[in-house]
Amino acid sequence: NERAIATPLKTKEILAKYGFSFKKSLGQNFLIDVNILKKIIDYAEIDSKTGTIEVGPGMGALTEQLAIHSDQVVAFEIDQRLVPVLNETLDAYKNVTIINQDILQADINQVIKDNFRKGQKIKVAANLPYYITTPILMKLLMDKLPVESFTVMIQKEVADRMAASPNTKSYGSLTIAVQYYTEAKIAMSVPKTVFMPQPNVDSAVLHLHVRENPPVDVEDEAFFFDLVQACFGQRRKTLRNNLARHFADRLSKTIIEELLQQAGIDGTRRGESLDMTEFAQLANVFFSALE
Ligand code: SAM
Repeated sequence: NERAIATPLKTKEILAKYGFSFKKSLGQNFLIDVNILKKIIDYAEIDSKTGTIEVGPGMGALTEQLAIHSDQVVAFEIDQRLVPVLNETLDAYKNVTIINQDILQADINQVIKDNFRKGQKIKVAANLPYYITTPILMKLLMDKLPVESFTVMIQKEVADRMAASPNTKSYGSLTIAVQYYTEAKIAMSVPKTVFMPQPNVDSAVLHLHVRENPPVDVEDEAFFFDLVQACFGQRRKTLRNNLARHFADRLSKTIIEELLQQAGIDGTRRGESLDMTEFAQLANVFFSALE
């Protein structure tokens, strides 16, 4: 432990040696607490057979723990200045591959084929750059990777939205998007003091377990997500009003009322009161009507 990368002393040492300055624009808040890292490894249930993927290794704080506890690690880091740093800090670990690339541009399915054994259990673990948390997670989910779970440090507020239940302030279209693909739960809240420099927002570790099949049957996924977004369009407005606005050029108010009835959903409700099953019913009825 005393030789781990994730300590304030070691981190300062590396900063000085490389004359490294944090780039706020890249969301660089490095972890300086080995206990938090070990908890992330525990929550992710990583064992010596697991292949792991990391987004944003930074100086290698989490990468090191992944290297110790998993079979092998592939880590995507956008900042070229960190490549020589990682080469040094992770020199002792032969099971780490660093890819100097923007994760949003990466062909992750190909990288998985190239780096992991066929059928190997693969998990993602990361302390994500907060300025692009949602785009990264949505890409990882929509790429339909052969990945079992994601265990990620993100802003508390975004974690709350992803793990939310109906009828709460955090519940919205992001909740549905994430929970369509995964079972989401907040593993723990994390204080600012475990980062260098400290971020402006509170953090949490979110655990997403990838579903084998979607929890609801949806005729057309794009249409479903679009309709969900429309239902949350203006949160204070009723379902009926949000739908009328969304379908203004395609469906009359009378037809919308009929379709709501057909779906068995009261148009005076608000979007935030519908669960995933009700959204699916609604989307399927509207989709059939427009086909
Ligand atoms: N894993 C390290 C740790 O926990 O100490 C660093 C985490 S830091 C919050 C986020 C890291 O993601 C930084 O190293 C940053 O350079 C990197 N990063 C930012 N945008 C990225 C992107 N689009 N693709 C890959 N890495 C990115």
